[in-house]
Amino acid sequence: MILLLDYDGTIVPIAEKPELAKIDTRTKSIIEGISENCKLAIVTGRDYKSFKNVFGEIKDTIYLITSHGVEIFRDSIKIFEEKIDNPPPIEELEKEISRLEGIDIENKKGGFALHYRRFKGNEEEIRRIFYEFINKYPPKKIIEGKKVYEALYSDTNKGKGIINLFNVTGWNPSEAIYVGDDTTDFDAFKTIKHLGGKAYYVGIKKPHVEIDGIFKNTEEVRIWLLKIMNECQNP
Ligand SMILES: [Mg+2]
Repeated sequence: MILLLDYDGTIVPIAEKPELAKIDTRTKSIIEGISENCKLAIVTGRDYKSFKNVFGEIKDTIYLITSHGVEIFRDSIKIFEEKIDNPPPIEELEKEISRLEGIDIENKKGGFALHYRRFKGNEEEIRRIFYEFINKYPPKKIIEGKKVYEALYSDTNKGKGIINLFNVTGWNPSEAIYVGDDTTDFDAFKTIKHLGGKAYYVGIKKPHVEIDGIFKNTEEVRIWLLKIMNECQNP
C-alpha cells in the first residue's frame, strides 16, 4: 500500500495561522509507523521550510512533495525540482499589505500565498490587492482556497507532483490512496483515479470530482491511519 497525504486540513486541522498547524506527537508517530512498513508521502502546498516548521524532524522513510509539486524531498535531500522562470518581486506585495492587520504572506518556492484567516476587515480589499499584483506579474496559476489566495509561477500541481514522485520512486500508482481536503487536491484525485489508485476526500460535502471515500474531519482520518499502521505492521 502507498499512502499520499495532504497536510493542512487532512492530517492536522486548519489553524488560525499556517505556522500554528503543528502536528501532535500521537499523529506523527502513526505517520512514521506507516512510512516504515508501507510507503508514504506527504503532498503539501507548503514549501520545505514552512512544512518542517509545523512537522518537526522528518523521518527518512517519509517522502515529501512541497509547493504543490515543485519540489520532492527524501531525508532532507531534494530529489526533484521544477524550474521556475520568472519569480515575482514579493517585497512589493509585502509593502502593499503591511498597512493591513492579520494577513500573512507565505513566500514559497514557485509562488506565494496570501493568508487572511486572521483578517477582520473587508475581504474585498484583499482580493483587490491580490489581483492587482498578479495582473502586474501574471502567474501560471491562481488558487482561491480556504481564506487564502495563492499564485503559482510554475504550472505544476499536486497531480503532476505525484506523477513525478511515481517516476523517481518507481512506486506503482494503482496501489496508492490519495487523501486531501481542498480544491488543490482535486488535480491529484483526478491523476490517481486515472492511474488506477484511490481518492479519499476530507470534508462534509461531497466534492464535484470522483472519489472513493470521504472522512468528516482530521480525527476520522487519524483513526483510519491508525488502522492502516497496524495493517502495515502485520500484513
Ligand atoms: Mg489541505
